[in-house]
Amino acid sequence: MIQLYIPLNFLGVLYREIKQSLADMEKLFSLMDQNKEIADKDNAPALKLDPHRSPEVRFQMVNFNYEENRQILFDVDFTIAAGTTTAVVGHSGSGKSTLSRLLFRFYDIRSGQIAIDGQNIMDVTQHSLRQAIGIVPQDTVLFNDTIAYNIAYGKPGATQEEVIAVAKAAYIHEFIESLPEGYETMVGERGLKLSGGEKQRVAIARTLLKNPSMLIFDEATSALDSKSEQLIQAQLKQIAKSRTSLVIAHRLSTIVDAAQILVMDKGRIIERGTHQELIAAAGAYAQMWERQQHGGVQDEAESGIGLAQ
Ligand code: ATP
Repeated sequence: MIQLYIPLNFLGVLYREIKQSLADMEKLFSLMDQNKEIADKDNAPALKLDPHRSPEVRFQMVNFNYEENRQILFDVDFTIAAGTTTAVVGHSGSGKSTLSRLLFRFYDIRSGQIAIDGQNIMDVTQHSLRQAIGIVPQDTVLFNDTIAYNIAYGKPGATQEEVIAVAKAAYIHEFIESLPEGYETMVGERGLKLSGGEKQRVAIARTLLKNPSMLIFDEATSALDSKSEQLIQAQLKQIAKSRTSLVIAHRLSTIVDAAQILVMDKGRIIERGTHQELIAAAGAYAQMWERQQHGGVQDEAESGIGLAQ
């Protein structure tokens, strides 16, 4: 019984990891097919991390295509300094989410290198790589189980005390306590439906429990209500502090403090710098900022207004 349980459970975890990260059932199946290509090298070592600091992440001249004849990323080159946040902006289809999929090694790149503290991610085990990265996706998939289970999923074997501690840190404890069955309330498709903001806070609690040294945060495209938004932003700052973070951003107001902002257009980085530097440069970012300030455009991805070429 136990022998049967382990592989099934492992498959379940893998399935959920993929599903959770992309939160898109259609893509899931094609992804699982393509994923067969990704394999650990013989005797691949685990990713080695310094326990005292988060690692440096380096994309070096990365070229990538999902399908033959359609290149998606062109010579993408940037470094996320240890423990800092890099935000990526640009309109829909420019390749922002692809960067996070590649860092998580859902796909292998065609040329160039992605390295974490100098270790090529293709040379280390996928397990150790994915253990080190927490993802807060746009649309968190909740399992048909209790809310406690949904949080504890971040760390198999987590105690109830640990679950409550991270729920408090993610500002969702009080909400959970207000539910008729508290932490034992069933959620997911067949249970209580949570709002987008509540789901994202569950994902944050889950990530806090996992305690990864790197973080990928995929900001929701649809605006959350302002209270949820503020809580999530405050929380995000907290968990990104001292963790090496990649933020896929849709609202520029949420990333003004990022150590580095990359502006992507058609698979290329067309501008980079801090918010102040990019505003001073008066280029594509400055135009996007201006539009979002005055035009009330919530989502550059959907604004349909082109970036400077
Ligand atoms: P959005 O802001 O809309 O999320 P994005 O900038 O994150 O967009 P990506 O999801 O990285 O964009 O997609 C970049 C390009 O790659 C798009 O043209 C998209 O159609 C293509 N693409 C994404 N996933 C796949 C896939 N699994 N197979 C083939 N092409 C894909």
